Amino acid sequence: MHSVDRMSALITRLFPICRSITGNGVRETLAILRETIPLQIDEVPTGTKVFDWTIPREWNIRDAYIKDTTGKRLIDFQKLNLHVVSYSTPLRCRMPFVELKEHLFTSAGNPDWVPYRTSYYNESWGFCLSENQLAQFDPNAEYDVCIDSSLKDGSLTYGECFLPGETPEEVLISSHVCHPSLANDNLSGIAVAVALAEALATAPRRYSYRFVFAPGSIGAISWLSRNEERLQMVRHGFVLTCVGDSAGITYKRSRHFKAEIDRAFLHILRHSGEPHQVVNFSPYGYDERQYCSPGIDLPVGCMMRSVHGTFPEYHTSADNLDFVRPESLVNSLEQCLQVINLLELNRTYLNNSPKGEPQLGKRGLYQGLGDGSTRRQHELALLWVLNLSDGSHSLLDIAEEAGLPFATIKDAADALARTDLLSLVQS
Ligand code: ZN
Repeated sequence: MHSVDRMSALITRLFPICRSITGNGVRETLAILRETIPLQIDEVPTGTKVFDWTIPREWNIRDAYIKDTTGKRLIDFQKLNLHVVSYSTPLRCRMPFVELKEHLFTSAGNPDWVPYRTSYYNESWGFCLSENQLAQFDPNAEYDVCIDSSLKDGSLTYGECFLPGETPEEVLISSHVCHPSLANDNLSGIAVAVALAEALATAPRRYSYRFVFAPGSIGAISWLSRNEERLQMVRHGFVLTCVGDSAGITYKRSRHFKAEIDRAFLHILRHSGEPHQVVNFSPYGYDERQYCSPGIDLPVGCMMRSVHGTFPEYHTSADNLDFVRPESLVNSLEQCLQVINLLELNRTYLNNSPKGEPQLGKRGLYQGLGDGSTRRQHELALLWVLNLSDGSHSLLDIAEEAGLPFATIKDAADALARTDLLSLVQS
């Protein structure tokens, strides 16, 4: 199966599962990922301190509904798991609408959409429904309300896929795994991360790659708190989220602002010829917040298409399987692979003949390179690489300085390295 079909199939398969920050939904999700990529799954017990947080009790849910007194289900968790506020406490009773309505949440402006709500750290219960569904309730009637959930000591679950490379230096790729039936946020990020891991598993790797699949915020914090000694090996990283909708790519810089990962994304996006935007780091968003907290401060950016909170479908039932486009998933995957390819190949070289320009013609470096602008660009690239390969400029530095695509600079460096003119600086 082609990677696009595998990504779409994975999203379709994961979509119905009711995930939260703890519970069997996350376990079931990770078990499915483990069918295609090597995944170590860890459990962090309830009550464990993770930095400033404490792992809460584990939440699981089997069923929930609101019935009228004839027994008809007006709101049914079995039809859509967004109907229950995540982490709702168990409940079974009959109550008048006036009391029930304090626990009902709708999405303003789109009468058919059901919002997504959570109440992780504040014990309560609630139902989410569309405004059209709400209009069917009789203000004077009573309703049977059931939330068949449990909140018990258990654990928080996260998964980690490690692909060792030639060096122990790592690239960290992270995606949250805590949303229920929502496709773009966050199944698209999971699907692209899995496809990346599959592609990298069979590719030659200079860097080692670590994929973290953890519940948002507290999951990433748990992983960080239990892997602090490893963090010094992380050279580059990015979070993947909302990468399946039809918008152009948005890259959010790391807190370092000009880390190599930031420059790599900027370079690839600039030369992609596609609409995109690059935004500065802000302490809001996905788990880049944790990776870029001041005491951690990793060079980790965030790749997305539509930005969380800015598209109407965000955190509603309209973020469904139709909202995610196969061509967007493929494009997101390809951009990530190009960024990774750049990181892999971004080496520093030394010009062995730095006094005056070396004579390229006698080494055959001016020959057989097509004609017109391609040839001119290649010749320029040769001169840029020779001039800036003083041991302190990487190929990305040179590409940026020359205003040429990284691939053109890399081709020139390869051609020069085949002669006596250029040698690799071992890092
Ligand atoms: Zn979200």
